[in-house]
Amino acid sequence: MAEFRKLRMGMVGGGPGAFIGPVHRMAAELDGKMELVAGAFSQSAERSKAAGIGFKIDPARAYADYREMMTTESNRADGIDFVVIATPNHMHLPVALAALEAGIPVMSDKPATATFDEALTLAAAVEESGLPYGLTHTYAGYGMVREARGMCATGKLGTIRKVAVEYMQGWMTQAVETTGHKQAAWRADPAQNGLGGCIGDIGTHAFHLLEYVSGLQVTSINATLRTVVAGRRLDDDFNAFVRMTNGAAGTLAASQVAAGELNEVRLRIYGETGSIEWRQQDPNRLIVKWVDGPEEVRHAATGYLCEGARSVFRVPPGHPEGYIEAFAVLYREFAEALIAWKNGSANPLPPTLPGIVAAVRGMRYIERTIESNRRESWVDF
Ligand code: NAD
Repeated sequence: MAEFRKLRMGMVGGGPGAFIGPVHRMAAELDGKMELVAGAFSQSAERSKAAGIGFKIDPARAYADYREMMTTESNRADGIDFVVIATPNHMHLPVALAALEAGIPVMSDKPATATFDEALTLAAAVEESGLPYGLTHTYAGYGMVREARGMCATGKLGTIRKVAVEYMQGWMTQAVETTGHKQAAWRADPAQNGLGGCIGDIGTHAFHLLEYVSGLQVTSINATLRTVVAGRRLDDDFNAFVRMTNGAAGTLAASQVAAGELNEVRLRIYGETGSIEWRQQDPNRLIVKWVDGPEEVRHAATGYLCEGARSVFRVPPGHPEGYIEAFAVLYREFAEALIAWKNGSANPLPPTLPGIVAAVRGMRYIERTIESNRRESWVDF
């Protein structure tokens, strides 16, 4: 396929009042490679239709049900090129399977599924279909995360010895799920969320970031899960020790009850000769500390960054890019992968874009973490 038109996007979820659906729409459309043309935006037919009107799409393409969307769109000459999944977790697998069965590539939000077994089912379906599957681990789209990853990959820090990743939020410090808070309600319900509460919602980002940047894999974990808020049915706080493939070790932690914290994602990696630190709330800077030299602050979009980092920025140094732009980096890579796939490439996703391997890995992490907590001991991956 020549690049003569925008790729057509269909969305499941992201209806009125949703959090991440609008972020997907902005991110997908930011670089001018994609456009929203269809959706099943809500489990309510009326709300889906209303959302479609708001998004200025053809009213006939605002569907009452995602299955109807897959069937109808796959039979249209101008049907959607891919589906975005932005629903609560329990719908990720059924929607992805319906898309793959209809021959439609998938860009899904995380966690990939509600359970590890579901992730294996998904991986088999992705492999059988041969269709591109992307996973929006947002933090992988930040340029300074790419710089950190590049430094680890090229051995700039020497052998990595210690890792520490935290993801702290405070918005569930009270029982907000009982007050009509839409996002909290399904996240606190095991049937819609899956069995990993905090670990599934944000711990999975921390886990992905750790492996993505370090280039190492977690080989075993010793985790403690807690439910701090009385009456809550899932974990809301998590601490773990991890061991990595090269013998490095470290900590992984996440919390939804860290009072006062907003979205504090913090990554630190220590090698033999130096270390790096990145914070999502200060995303345009990477701190680098050396054993034998002064501390450095690397700035976004500057010419001295590695090519893999420089290439993601859209504006010159000093013009901050943030959450939407990072999300859009993943979409830009997915758009390029889709075009490559349409032109015959069998495995078009670049290694920088999380896909089905990261999807299964993330669900394995949730399952292993729950098992470690249950046994109160180390468990292997
Ligand atoms: P939300 O409750 O704000 O939105 C969910 C939307 O899905 C709603 O519009 C709801 O009506 C719709 N929906 C539910 N069932 C549906 C169905 N059967 N068919 C069609 N639409 C349906 O939730 P959210 O906070 O936006 O989270 C959605 C997903 O995104 C979750 O999986 C979450 O883990 C993930 N998420 C990812 C990030 C990230 O940084 N990548 C951030 C937030 C949320």
